[in-house]
Amino acid sequence: MLEIKNLQASINKKTILKGVNLTIKPGELHAIMGPNGSGKSTLANILSGKNGYEISGEVNYRGKSLNNISVDERAQKGIFLAFQYPLEIPGVNTNNFIKTSLNSIRKSKGKEELDTLAFLKLVKEKSSELGIDEKILSRQLNVGFSGGEKKKNEILQMKILDPNLSILDETDSGLDIDALKIVAKGVNSSRNNEKSFLVITHYQRLLDHIKPDFVHVLSDGKIIKTGCGELAEELEKTGYKKLN
Ligand code: ADP
Ligand code: MG
Repeated sequence: MLEIKNLQASINKKTILKGVNLTIKPGELHAIMGPNGSGKSTLANILSGKNGYEISGEVNYRGKSLNNISVDERAQKGIFLAFQYPLEIPGVNTNNFIKTSLNSIRKSKGKEELDTLAFLKLVKEKSSELGIDEKILSRQLNVGFSGGEKKKNEILQMKILDPNLSILDETDSGLDIDALKIVAKGVNSSRNNEKSFLVITHYQRLLDHIKPDFVHVLSDGKIIKTGCGELAEELEKTGYKKLN
């Protein structure tokens, strides 16, 4: 699904990623942990196609290079990023925003666009599946949403857009236990042999609810350790310092 080879990235003359190697096969869920400032969000942003970085190395998605592929095209190809800090966009209705994204993805696959009625039916279905109050979707995108509502909205978008590769950037941060369970449910109910996940988290807590196939530790722009679920438990006890 995703193959990252010796990815280096800098911005404003600051080198952030210093040779990241990572392969995610279809059906796999990889967790990335690591201290603040290690480059986790930068990696997520680059995978989603955000501009402004000087990049070298290779990123292949489903066997093809992602070089020069825009954010929109990546979304159409099934890459989804749940932001660490979802943007508030006044004047943009949340339902309309998700509907437009979904229809652009459907269009690129040669599928018919969903009309408002069919879309709202899908939203109802997905939000009740997750136990999310769909009323927030009639509001402006993330405007005045609580931290938890923003993160739940990201997960609901993921469920509706049904991506092949979902990247979750600290979607668990700042959530109470009920909201955390909603996020976990969203991920777990989407897992199958074809879909892949890259879950960035600070805390082992999320990984009690989402069982990763692999856990990687990113430190100072490099993956310094890879293991299975137990690595996360170990880190919770010892912290990151011992690994450096
Ligand atoms: P993490 O998500 O692991 O906490 P980030 O990827 O957000 O880390 O940031 C990694 C490092 O890169 C930090 O030191 C951050 O300050 C720096 N950084 C990120 N974006 C920029 C930018 N646009 N300009 C300068 N430095 C940046
Ligand atoms: Mg971050």
